[in-house]
Amino acid sequence: MDENLPEVARKLFAGPIEFLKSAPGLQFLPDPTVPEIAFAGRSNVGKSSLLNALTNRHKLARTSNTPGRTQELNFFNVGQPIVLRLVDMPGYGFAEAPKDMVKRWRFLINDFLRGRQVLKRALVLVDSRHGLKDVDRDVMSMLDAAAVSYHIVLTKGDKIKPSKLEATFEATRLEAAKYPAAHPILFATSSETGAGIAELRTTVLEAARL
Ligand code: GDP
Repeated sequence: MDENLPEVARKLFAGPIEFLKSAPGLQFLPDPTVPEIAFAGRSNVGKSSLLNALTNRHKLARTSNTPGRTQELNFFNVGQPIVLRLVDMPGYGFAEAPKDMVKRWRFLINDFLRGRQVLKRALVLVDSRHGLKDVDRDVMSMLDAAAVSYHIVLTKGDKIKPSKLEATFEATRLEAAKYPAAHPILFATSSETGAGIAELRTTVLEAARL
């Protein structure tokens, strides 16, 4: 069949998308019956906004959660019948998070990443203004260890000058190349202007089909 993947992806994300469930622990995960794509990033990186932009909805993912408070994995079914599932991972790197909360986060994420066969790819969101931080590098190493392939996605690209965005993109690309499971393709996005969003939809669909 001759198909136009960007168009298929556009239609898929314009169609039915539903919140399935929140899983505060591994025993609450949905049955692993469809391919999953996970979204990770520091608190306030723009993850909820990106999920909303990807899915053309305003309130699919809640924005401005109290940073560091949400410790659940949130699952969203995309397509009817379901084609793939988006997994919103709890934000990390909140400076004031208590130590045991950070520990709990690490266990939850590590167990999820290592045990989830249907997890096809992860997206690691990084604020364009700040570039990679040590907490991001830490998550990238966790993904490497779990052998989960991931894209780095720069967020809030509208907030900085194009020349600065390009420089951050290049620096991030060069550093990511040192991480075994980091995909060579990165994205620069803005949930505000929609930059990079259509490309990301196509990649999500493509990864789900692997
Ligand atoms: P989360 O904590 O990672 O889910 O981050 P949110 O999606 O709640 O975004 C944090 C803040 O950044 C909010 O005030 C958003 O309005 C803002 N924000 C998110 N994405 C963008 C973007 O692409 N451009 C701009 N200008 N602001 C953004």
